[in-house]
Amino acid sequence: MDNTPIRRIVIVGGGTAGWMAAAPLAQRLAGQASVTLVESPEIGTIGVGEATLPTNRFYNAALGIDQDDFVARTRATYKLGIEFKDWGHVGNRFFHGFGDFGPALAGRTPHMHWLRLARAFEHMPALENWSMPSIMARELKFVLPNKSQPGVSDSFSYGFHFDAGLYAAYLRDYALKRGAQRVEGMIVGVEQHPDTGFITAVRLRDGRRIEGELFIDCSGFRGLLIEDALHAGYDDWSAQLPCNSALAVPCASAPRLTPYTRSTAKEAGWLWRIPLQHRTGNGHVYSSGFTSDDQARDTLLQGLDGAALDEPRQLRFVTGRRRKSWVKNCVAIGLSAGFVEPLESTSINLIETAVGKLVELFPDRDFRPELADEFNRVMALRYESVRDFIVMHYKLTARADSEFWRYCAAMPIPDSLRHQIDLFRETGRITILDPEGFAEPSFVAMLMGLGVVPKRYDPLADGDDLRQVHGHFAGLREMIAAAVAKMPDHGDFVRTPAGTGKAA
Ligand SMILES: Cc1cc2nc3c(=O)[nH]c(=O)nc-3n(C[C@H](O)[C@H](O)[C@H](O)COP(=O)(O)OP(=O)(O)OC[C@H]3O[C@@H](n4cnc5c(N)ncnc54)[C@H](O)[C@@H]3O)c2cc1C
Repeated sequence: MDNTPIRRIVIVGGGTAGWMAAAPLAQRLAGQASVTLVESPEIGTIGVGEATLPTNRFYNAALGIDQDDFVARTRATYKLGIEFKDWGHVGNRFFHGFGDFGPALAGRTPHMHWLRLARAFEHMPALENWSMPSIMARELKFVLPNKSQPGVSDSFSYGFHFDAGLYAAYLRDYALKRGAQRVEGMIVGVEQHPDTGFITAVRLRDGRRIEGELFIDCSGFRGLLIEDALHAGYDDWSAQLPCNSALAVPCASAPRLTPYTRSTAKEAGWLWRIPLQHRTGNGHVYSSGFTSDDQARDTLLQGLDGAALDEPRQLRFVTGRRRKSWVKNCVAIGLSAGFVEPLESTSINLIETAVGKLVELFPDRDFRPELADEFNRVMALRYESVRDFIVMHYKLTARADSEFWRYCAAMPIPDSLRHQIDLFRETGRITILDPEGFAEPSFVAMLMGLGVVPKRYDPLADGDDLRQVHGHFAGLREMIAAAVAKMPDHGDFVRTPAGTGKAA
């Protein structure tokens, strides 16, 4: 059977998702298909979404983006992970770093050896001391990983903190230079084929029609095409993730730029703190069922470490995911496909996966349903694994100081997460259910940080000489400390043009 190639792609929405979809499509399909993006300044974008996972580097690199230029133009700083404060119990502090806890030893993952050492030696320092990004973060240091010097110098990764509006503008310029068209206007109607239900055009308020064969819905929470026109349905996860509101406000920068996001648990949610070059982004994610908007606003403003630069902006959301994000000839990407609160900065990562999968499974005009099935299978797994990971942060709490935390401690959780927690608690083992999701060190950092100490460790670790293993850990810790001591301050690295060198 002959292919009937798609010639016209219409993207609805010009937020982060819309331009993140437009850029690679314009790059890959130049000359083969037109890419038209419709956005309405009247509606605007969500405008938050300032922290990423390391995968954002790979997305940018695939576009051929120069990292120096990108960091300068989006006012970015580097992110080594997240500092968690008061999660698990008030007074708790731990770091979820982008990196492991040292290399495998005798074929076994380092945390197994550490568990053995912690039983044998009374004052064994916390496992976090063997995480390069955690030590760099603690010392406010940063350099790019050095791949030419394997060892501790390349045992970490990094993502970014950036201005979300500037990132979308950066990708817009990129896409427009490669032939994408931008149309400004308010969509007031969606036309569908009377027999198939396929979308044939979107209608603008001024009477213009924009026809296409493939429609990408990046219209935000509402899901203008995927829900309003195609009724894909939505799974609501609020029972396990009760936060449904956020207040966001920028403030003046602190004297030193931290190379990490901070998340501080509060009575009915948590505060984020994201340092950019020119300001600090702050927000309070909370459950309106457990606190008032006024109280949430006070909590946010009291937690700032500089003068507020604006009035706090209110956002509401329903945590969950669209039952199918590819329906007929429409693919939903970004908030229109679902939303899990930004505790681990996963939304942009999910956009990257969706855009990558769409390119990988790019249809022709037959729109074989097998392609949609595969896309929906992968995205369902990705969203559900993110959900589980985030639910874990709430469920594993010993906090009983507010109704919100008592609710979280008692709430039922998905069987998939229950299995992961029980497996770790009983045996120290981690099972990875989503190969594209968080890796073993992330689970170890979060589970141990939240106070789950495994009852057992890998019995095969007992085969290695205890003194030698202890010596290996002591030596590695010294190497990490020595390497970090030589690194520049993160702020200096960001400000020095030579510092913003290309990723190794
Ligand atoms: C509180 C909060 C904090 C977040 N923090 C992070 C984070 O740190 N890291 C992270 O990865 N993600 C984060 N996110 C998620 C991130 O903000 C989004 O994933 C990202 O911005 C993508 O949004 P979007 O493009 O899907 O939607 P939007 O930004 O809402 O864009 C929707 C677009 O659709 C257009 N549109 C809608 N209706 C019409 C119409 N009728 N006609 C024409 N155009 C229309 C609008 O004009 C707009 O251009 C956060 C989200 C929230 C709510």
